[in-house]
Amino acid sequence: MARGKFIVGTNFKMNGSRAFLQDLVENLNRADLDSNVEIFISPPSVHINHVRQNLRKDIAVGGQNCFWKSSGAYTGEISAEMLKDAGAEYVILGHTERRTLFKESDSHIGLKVASALAAGLKVIACIGETLSERESNTTLQVLFRQLQAIVDHIQDLNQEEKWKDVVIAYEPVWAIGTGRVATPKQAQEVHAAIRRRVEETVEGSVAEGMRIIYGGSVNLGNARQLAREKDVDGLFVGGASLKPEFVEICNVLR
Ligand code: PEP
Repeated sequence: MARGKFIVGTNFKMNGSRAFLQDLVENLNRADLDSNVEIFISPPSVHINHVRQNLRKDIAVGGQNCFWKSSGAYTGEISAEMLKDAGAEYVILGHTERRTLFKESDSHIGLKVASALAAGLKVIACIGETLSERESNTTLQVLFRQLQAIVDHIQDLNQEEKWKDVVIAYEPVWAIGTGRVATPKQAQEVHAAIRRRVEETVEGSVAEGMRIIYGGSVNLGNARQLAREKDVDGLFVGGASLKPEFVEICNVLR
């Protein structure tokens, strides 16, 4: 499985009015962007359709969550099919805010990943350890447990077909929104370990082709160094994605 382009994605979280997003879209539409980088932005779901209709077509749009059922009596939920219908190509699943604030378990996330892939969405599957887990040397144990739930839930689908649509986002919880970014060495070590784990539990060609991106306090000041690491196949940007510097982060390989 060939590894895709370097990928830069956003997590806007619960931010952005329609007017704010329209400005952001116009800014991206005007920008000179590196065609060697794949970019996606993820507005709140109510704005996906508007953003998709107004954004240049070489940037993908993603949702920030979905439920694992296609339709039915699930008040307030949105299915993967609905995201796709609204124009989304990606969905972010397993973000730490979903895991902690909304009590999503590893197995909920596995179910969501499977349903999103079945609906034809590409998945940004987030995994990450807390500070106390890192300090007690259980980082890999935690990441592998989170990863295994995804592997278990999608094992029935065709191996290469489904994995080409999965991007793993390593997002250390202690780095999210804190200004405390992982060092390039820390990110590289973890990404390489995740790749080895995928090789052991799924398949070598899947591991080789899989894109593993880093998220957690990425900004213009640290993006370039992170992007140089061999197993860092992209960047996942929260706070800085709402600022004009996002365009420069997208062009980090230049
Ligand atoms: C995130 O929440 O996924 C994230 C990467 O946020 P930030 O860049 O603000 O740390």
